[in-house]
Amino acid sequence: MSKVVQGTCCICGRIGKLSFEHIPPAAAFNDRRIFEADINALLAGKWSPGERVEEGKYKQRGAGRHSLCEKCNSDTGSWYGATYVDVARQAMILLHASQGSISLAYPYRMYPLRFLKQIAVMFCSACGPDFQKGNADLVRFILNQDERSIPNRLRFYIYLHHPKESKCIRQVGLTSMLVGRKQHFFSEIAFPPFGLIMSIDHPPVHDKLCEITHLKEFSYKAWDIGLHPIPKTPS
Ligand SMILES: [Zn+2]
Repeated sequence: MSKVVQGTCCICGRIGKLSFEHIPPAAAFNDRRIFEADINALLAGKWSPGERVEEGKYKQRGAGRHSLCEKCNSDTGSWYGATYVDVARQAMILLHASQGSISLAYPYRMYPLRFLKQIAVMFCSACGPDFQKGNADLVRFILNQDERSIPNRLRFYIYLHHPKESKCIRQVGLTSMLVGRKQHFFSEIAFPPFGLIMSIDHPPVHDKLCEITHLKEFSYKAWDIGLHPIPKTPS
């Protein structure tokens, strides 16, 4: 029997029983036992892309955490989850067909706003319950299907995370990093086929990412075939 977890919902902020949120959705290749790397080991520089990660733990039900109340989990899952799964499958097929050498902009068929909103949901879960307290605009963006405004300080980026080149998955809550002279403040979710970055008030930690913040301009019902130059894992 699964244990009952009480806590604060990472979207609506209500305190109560929390449900398990798969990050990403279970059907986006996240429905099996996974090895979650110890993020402290990663941040301490013990790992580089492509290298096998030794420190971490196995999770039997896939990547994710008890982070959302049942209503937020079920609402956002039914509104946005299927689109994310669909786009992830397209990307996995492209990666497989190109044997990892994908370098061009490829067309992705999707509901763009729903895709972006699912990513926002995933970052709320990854960043923990304190994040929603200071980001009421993002909560409104998530809980209102038709809402299209996101605070300017939040920007979203994507890259392709090849499952053969790196079996590592990671979820980094809000992190600050100095690269050269630039300070970066961001959160990252890397789970094949995508790596996702939410950058806050600062430029993204890599300069060769595909920005997808503009997908907020589409309406909830708008479907599109868009050319997205999504790069492979930046080095
Ligand atoms: Zn909630």
